[in-house]
Amino acid sequence: VIELGTPERSVITTCAYCGVGCSFKAELNGDELVRMVPYKHGKANRGHSCIKGRFAYGYAQHKDRILKPMIRDHIDEPWKEVEWDEALAFAANRMRGLQEKYGQKSIGVITSSRCTNEETYLVQKLTRAVFKNNNTDTCARVCHSPTGYGLGKTYGTSAGTQDFDSVQYSDVIMIIGANPTDAHPVFASRMKKRVRAGAKVIVVDPRRIDMVRSTHIRAEHHLPLRPGTNVAVVTAMAHVIVTEGLYDEMFIRERCDWDEFQHYVEFARDPRHAPEAIEMLTGVPAADLRAAARLYATGGNGAIYYGLGVTEHSQGSTTVMGIANLAMLTGNIGREGVGVNPLRGQNNVQGSCDMGSFPHELPGYRHVKLPDVRAIYEQAWGVEIDPEPGLRIPNMLDAAVEGTFKGLYCQGEDILQSDPDTHHVAAGLAAMECVIVHDLFLNETANYAHVFLPGSTFLEKNGTFTNAERRINLVRKVMAPRNGYEDWEVTQMLANAMGAGWHYTHPSQIMDEIAATTPSFAGVTFELLEEKGSVQWPCNEEAPEGTPLMHVDGFKAGKGHFMITEYVATDERTGPRYPLLLTTGRILSQYNVGAQTRRTHNSIWHDEDVLEIHPHDAEQRGVNDGDFVRLASRTGETTLRAVVTERVATGVVYTTFHHPTTQANVVTTDFSDWATNCPEFKVTAVQVSPSNGP
Ligand code: SF4
Repeated sequence: VIELGTPERSVITTCAYCGVGCSFKAELNGDELVRMVPYKHGKANRGHSCIKGRFAYGYAQHKDRILKPMIRDHIDEPWKEVEWDEALAFAANRMRGLQEKYGQKSIGVITSSRCTNEETYLVQKLTRAVFKNNNTDTCARVCHSPTGYGLGKTYGTSAGTQDFDSVQYSDVIMIIGANPTDAHPVFASRMKKRVRAGAKVIVVDPRRIDMVRSTHIRAEHHLPLRPGTNVAVVTAMAHVIVTEGLYDEMFIRERCDWDEFQHYVEFARDPRHAPEAIEMLTGVPAADLRAAARLYATGGNGAIYYGLGVTEHSQGSTTVMGIANLAMLTGNIGREGVGVNPLRGQNNVQGSCDMGSFPHELPGYRHVKLPDVRAIYEQAWGVEIDPEPGLRIPNMLDAAVEGTFKGLYCQGEDILQSDPDTHHVAAGLAAMECVIVHDLFLNETANYAHVFLPGSTFLEKNGTFTNAERRINLVRKVMAPRNGYEDWEVTQMLANAMGAGWHYTHPSQIMDEIAATTPSFAGVTFELLEEKGSVQWPCNEEAPEGTPLMHVDGFKAGKGHFMITEYVATDERTGPRYPLLLTTGRILSQYNVGAQTRRTHNSIWHDEDVLEIHPHDAEQRGVNDGDFVRLASRTGETTLRAVVTERVATGVVYTTFHHPTTQANVVTTDFSDWATNCPEFKVTAVQVSPSNGP
């Protein structure tokens, strides 16, 4: 037991890891942070936490932090430490020079879902008002962009429909392509509590995750589908519901577009969507699929929770629409205990999307081509806004390789490690003439940077994060930024070095501007957040206290829209050379590329990425548990240790992407979602063979 004594002071703030958005009391003695205590009044966590939020904050003090700006003319040269003014002038001159030489649209930004709403808003404002183009994208591109598209098309807004409390009223919990125990642990505990009280669980996942079977949990149905066949499974569930007359006609007549519903019924009842017809394709026994569909449709309040196992596919957007269809078919929307809920991976994925980080949308999911929407910002910012959508991340990299995209401001995102097809990302970065990395550490992307601007941690800034239930939580400054500035200040200084003339003095002023220009945030102020603890958007004149449940009396889109969800096989195919399918995910103790979690004192973090392989596949290859193996795809190869386990089915292997030494994304492909370009991280044809080690 370590005696820490009574702290001198404490500050309530919000965890910067996953989309649950737990509140913590940061306790300090002097300027030293001595512990993070889960805050009992936090509405998302109610006094609970996981090991990341509670213990993995030491990276803020880590010796690897870069605290002084650095510049260099060329990426082969060593870094030169300079003062902020010099670094910002260097960056501004280079970016402006590129625009003069190659055109206004030759530069852009990539921002991170780790940043606050206010920082994110400023970054897209920098792009639109200072760069004068729409080349702004976010790392949500590589995770939940299909949620934006799919829920936008069907329900009219890109957000989870429920608050976390709602799960206590669920009778059936369907988890698709998500592993809450590892990725959203505090919410997983709430789910498990409800399951222990009698709710039934359906898991749709290629792996036998913890929610399939663990202490006190035994899922009613596990549909272990072949990676890449989500659409076929979801449509087959709709087939069962339609052909067996299990749909909620009264709800559909009242709330949905009836003509679209009839068209959808015709599509779904086609025998080619029957569970028996897709059994070979998906690997899911037809009887299990039928039973799961019946349970979801007739088992009482049915709630769907999904994750990146849905979105990171060539048909990610189609699956999101298929899930939305299922909830409308069964009337499982608009009340407690039901709904469709994307489990957001990062702390502020929701906020990053809300704040207009996508190249086609201004804040509040309003298309940049709409003149009346542009007019709001043109008046507020005093500039003309380009009506043409900008480049998405993969398009930026393609354009860089082609020689038309030359400068990038990359804030809080290590794209070399986190984006697919590492070799292509490297080629794109190497072709640029100005890469500005704004981050805590010299990450892998910084190898290609000309300017390094030191970033601040969540402990060193004020602002807000929006969690997976649309809850806007305050982030309060616990200590002074070691690098001298909060991230929103750095963006403001860069904008001003390029001639902007901004003069925000506190993030609350940025939130005021967001509220003045974005209808769903119209009632949000820092004062309200201080008073209420947090609020869920929409928060405006109609809902001054915020909105825990969406679509109660009607959809944001007016009527709910059924969408046709035709299954189309991914272009990524197995064959004699690459006979196995690789899918990826993360573990409880690590977080994404591990930049933070690997830099804490807890020895538990010093694990490694491993490859899960079924005993049958391992035996065929002469691989034993703990052996090193070579994992190869058509894009690259890496070496890691094998874990022989029945958690994965035959023909499927699984790994994580937490360690730069493994670089799992060396093997992932450049295939992506047809609607949003979200990479197909979850399906890669690979071969596994014995290896002597790295
Ligand atoms: Fe942080 Fe998520 Fe863990 Fe909560 S569940 S402490 S938000 S990582």
